[in-house]
Amino acid sequence: MQLKTGSPLYCGKSKTLYETSEPEYCIAQFRDDITAFNAAKHEILHTKGMVNNFFNEFIMQKLTEGGVANHFVSRLDADHSLVKRLEMLPLECVVRNYAAGGLIKRYGLQEGQPLDPPIFEFFLKNDILGDPLVNESHILTFGWASSVEMAELQAITLQVNQILQPLFANVRLMLVDYKLEFGRLQGRICLGDEFTPDGCRIWDMDTKEKFDKDRFRLDLGQVLEYYQLAAQRLGIKIPY
Ligand code: 5GP
Repeated sequence: MQLKTGSPLYCGKSKTLYETSEPEYCIAQFRDDITAFNAAKHEILHTKGMVNNFFNEFIMQKLTEGGVANHFVSRLDADHSLVKRLEMLPLECVVRNYAAGGLIKRYGLQEGQPLDPPIFEFFLKNDILGDPLVNESHILTFGWASSVEMAELQAITLQVNQILQPLFANVRLMLVDYKLEFGRLQGRICLGDEFTPDGCRIWDMDTKEKFDKDRFRLDLGQVLEYYQLAAQRLGIKIPY
């Protein structure tokens, strides 16, 4: 297969997707950009792309082993991975095991409050509108996904929780919340995008220290160092 043909298919805030010579495959480049507040805050963190590429490879492989269909094929080099090309849905699926971030602002909760059963939410992926919370009625009426697809999105997002929560707990990390994005592959729902500390909240179980993008959002410092520490705890080998 010829790698990286032509111009990018899609350029996101921290990843670029390239076409390959095979129409069913794309190459994802994990860049060093880090953004928050709808890209109002932006920095370059040298080697973050590599750390996230290795992190994502590890998680996607665990999800494949756990039976979650996903687009990941293989890591190609430090900051590129081969993925299956999906027809992406304009939705973000969020699961929350503990209260944090947007949820505590919206409902006035205490940070860290356990959420049992975990909360599942849909957001519309739309930067101009600031990714608003949407419900099943909006999704159906505006044609973003069918009822069957929505049920599948929720079931898979919670299945991911069953696989990842114990994985993190084993190394004394709390999986506080995370965001997943899905697409269609030959008519079937398939997990796409990425799972990295950019799109989830991970806390130390004992100290509640943050190991995720909140370090950047809240100016806590040592952002990359904490991403690397989370990877190290999970046993992810990254050549530094
Ligand atoms: P919140 O709604 O609390 O801001 O986010 C919930 C979880 O989803 C957090 O782990 C957050 O990092 C992730 N998340 C929500 N929206 C986005 C997004 O647009 N980009 C990324 N990278 N993560 C998101």
